Amino acid sequence: MILTRRELIAGSAAATGLLYAPAVLGQGKPKVVVIGGGAGGGTAARYLAKDSQGALDVTLVEADPVYTTCFFSNLHIGGLRDFDSLRHGYDKMAAGGVTVVNDRATAVDREARTVTLAGGQVLAYDRLVLSPGIDFVEDSVPGWSLDAAEIMPHAYKAGPQTELLKRMIQAMPQGGTFAMVAPPNPYRCPPGPYERASMVAHLLKQTNPTAKIIILDAKEKFSKQALFEEGWGKYYDGMIEWINPEFGGADVAVRPDSMEVVVEGVAQKVDCCNVIPAQTAGRIAAIAGLTDESGWAPVHPDSMKSRIDGNAWVLGDSSAQGDMPKSAFSANSQAKVAAMAIRAELTGSRLFPAKYSNTCWSLLAPEDGVKLGASYEPNDDRIASVESFISDTGEDAALRRRTYEESLGWYAGITADIFG
Ligand SMILES: Cc1cc2nc3c(=O)[nH]c(=O)nc-3n(C[C@H](O)[C@H](O)[C@H](O)COP(=O)(O)OP(=O)(O)OC[C@H]3O[C@@H](n4cnc5c(N)ncnc54)[C@H](O)[C@@H]3O)c2cc1C
Repeated sequence: MILTRRELIAGSAAATGLLYAPAVLGQGKPKVVVIGGGAGGGTAARYLAKDSQGALDVTLVEADPVYTTCFFSNLHIGGLRDFDSLRHGYDKMAAGGVTVVNDRATAVDREARTVTLAGGQVLAYDRLVLSPGIDFVEDSVPGWSLDAAEIMPHAYKAGPQTELLKRMIQAMPQGGTFAMVAPPNPYRCPPGPYERASMVAHLLKQTNPTAKIIILDAKEKFSKQALFEEGWGKYYDGMIEWINPEFGGADVAVRPDSMEVVVEGVAQKVDCCNVIPAQTAGRIAAIAGLTDESGWAPVHPDSMKSRIDGNAWVLGDSSAQGDMPKSAFSANSQAKVAAMAIRAELTGSRLFPAKYSNTCWSLLAPEDGVKLGASYEPNDDRIASVESFISDTGEDAALRRRTYEESLGWYAGITADIFG
């Protein structure tokens, strides 16, 4: 069942204010409310409903009626994937027994165990799952704000921002400059900015081959660096310049009104500027009081249960869990562990030891894919990497093509796993 805000208001139960009375365990179905229907929340909601076979009342609260994947959005920017292929609705999830509510959660009362929605409705829960992704630290790049994202897009939450950035790249004058302000750690998808630079270069190479790409970076090094640098040399020689802290990458401001970047006090006019700011847990996690001074939500490594509230779980990008990168693969893996732990608490189902995994694929050029991944296990204080792998530099084209094809299979598989 998919409920819009209007339908919720029209519902007779809404007249009482509280849509669902809190279940007393053992009387009626226990209620799980999941906030955020992306990689973590979508997977958790679907697995909770599927595996409990009707024993749980699962409600997913998601602000957008259609989810646009950040994963593979760089391929869209590169002209290798159409936008519609990134978009996924919630019909199948609803058919699978999840009550999908299209609204924004605005408050969580952890004492009363209720979630309040923008439309004014109140949902009661026995267990709460949050997977709201990221929000941006607005003052992390001086001169940039969320309002300025219309001029200098982040395109780090996929959707209209992705389309805007692509249009701006296509509108650059011949020989123009594309600047990216890369985010400091930790942030979602560590190789994402560098895959993006590769895809921007691929796009420009065909229509604007004298254009330049500069990446301003506060980090000393970045994910899959040797692989990216080799690929940039091979496919886009001289086009991409990475500016690390030694050369001013950590001292960057922007002036959206004049389309300038200011590096160590020296202003430079650019033609397109992609600002990917510092990141923090999705706002609702902080509103719920589930984050700490780091801005992220600490969780127990064996279950993803919040360290702050025993009735709440935080998944995906918002969580502070240890070694796993903030990725859709990680969020999906964490969600399955969380769903199992929640079912065990609420229905007495069997609990198996937690195991997690992640692989991040990146595309350097058409059919030239590389990957990095690991398996993980919980220890006393964090989720720890136990075995890892990474593509080698110098691999032949056939292997790189297979790696790319593997990533296509992963995309089809994970989106079916999240959305049904
Ligand atoms: C350019 C780019 C490329 C990437 N490539 C890859 C890749 O190749 N592989 C990979 O594994 N990962 C990749 N990622 C990372 C991946 O997209 C994220 O790590 C993943 O989506 C995190 O899942 P999540 O559930 O934490 O958050 P999300 O998937 O972002 O889901 C959060 C959801 O919560 C909703 N929401 C937030 N607040 C509220 C609220 N208050 N009320 C209701 N709904 C709310 C949002 O609308 C959103 O739908 C990439 C990211 C980027 C930016």
